[in-house]
Amino acid sequence: MKRKKEKQKLNNWFMKAENKIICSGENLINKRRLIIAGPCSAESEEQLLQTALELAENGNADVLRAGIWKPRTNPGGFEGAGTKALAWLLNAKKQTGFPTATEIATAKHVEDALSFETDILWIGARTTVNPFSVQLIADALRGTKQTVLIKNPVNPDIKLWAGAIERIQKSGICNIGLIHRGFSSYGNTEYRNVPMWQIPIEMKRLFPGIPVICDPSHICGNTENLYTVSQKSIDLDYDGLMIESHCNPANALTDKQQQVTPRELKSLLKKIKWKKPVSAKTGFLKQLENLRERINYMDEELISLIAERMKIAGEIGELKKKNDITVLQASRYSEIMKRSSLKGKQVGLSEEFIHTYMSAIHVESIRTQNLLT
Ligand code: PEP
Ligand code: MN
Repeated sequence: MKRKKEKQKLNNWFMKAENKIICSGENLINKRRLIIAGPCSAESEEQLLQTALELAENGNADVLRAGIWKPRTNPGGFEGAGTKALAWLLNAKKQTGFPTATEIATAKHVEDALSFETDILWIGARTTVNPFSVQLIADALRGTKQTVLIKNPVNPDIKLWAGAIERIQKSGICNIGLIHRGFSSYGNTEYRNVPMWQIPIEMKRLFPGIPVICDPSHICGNTENLYTVSQKSIDLDYDGLMIESHCNPANALTDKQQQVTPRELKSLLKKIKWKKPVSAKTGFLKQLENLRERINYMDEELISLIAERMKIAGEIGELKKKNDITVLQASRYSEIMKRSSLKGKQVGLSEEFIHTYMSAIHVESIRTQNLLT
């Protein structure tokens, strides 16, 4: 009974994707708050079952995850229990009723995972970067009705992430979701993988029907920041969370610093404030509409001002051309940046924003001037 209910919940959740992307059908949107939880790795039949039972007891997960094949940065560590652990996962599913999820990286993994009735397959961050691998996985999935989650590539490349979605869609898979697990960076200490929220936000714009879930465990690399990152993703209208949970994190064979016990997971989830993307309250709607109108007006003003600025840049370009002066003058560029950062600081805009904004304006100015040469 419970198993049927979990499965239905999962199907409803994915209807969101089905309706908006390829498939048609009744609109069962709004299964939000999907929680995928479970250990980083399936280490033994006992560890997996114990974790699954505790998750079921605490009542805080919809899907049980466990890594069977583990992509490790260095060789020699625990690389997953391999195919035999699929039977453990199936057993845990039978005992608890949880639909199951695991990472696949090859066509053989797909075949093996399917033969053990794994409900959800996810493509890991190190696989999404490789179109050859994604294509082999897509080919192996063809003709199945599998649910597939695609993690962001380790590097912040929107096109690579989008390309992976397209390859999986082209193999006829409708039930696709995205997992945001952060991006590798050099020398960052706050996060294991920096979130770069603007990238998943852009993916939501490009693929409006595809559910996005956050994996705060791999973003944080620790347990302290799990709540903050989870809440932030919910505030950004994500559809669910994937959180690593282990019955005994201190003894975990992989990712021990970032795993929480099922009981800790329960209190973490309890703290989260789930928000609605829309509200029908008239007062709220009226206020929102007024504020948005003001924003629209300002955006138009800003664009007109930028166009004016470009015109002047064009005049400067003409002047430079007449006098045989190079288009790019590094000292002027750094003067603009300095002035703008100072002004930005005075009015409370971050240095990062001013840098991104002024760089884009400057690139466009140079482009305008180059057109004249
Ligand atoms: C995982 O989920 O355990 C994992 C290896 O994730 P990622 O591909 O995000 O590193
Ligand atoms: Mn992990």
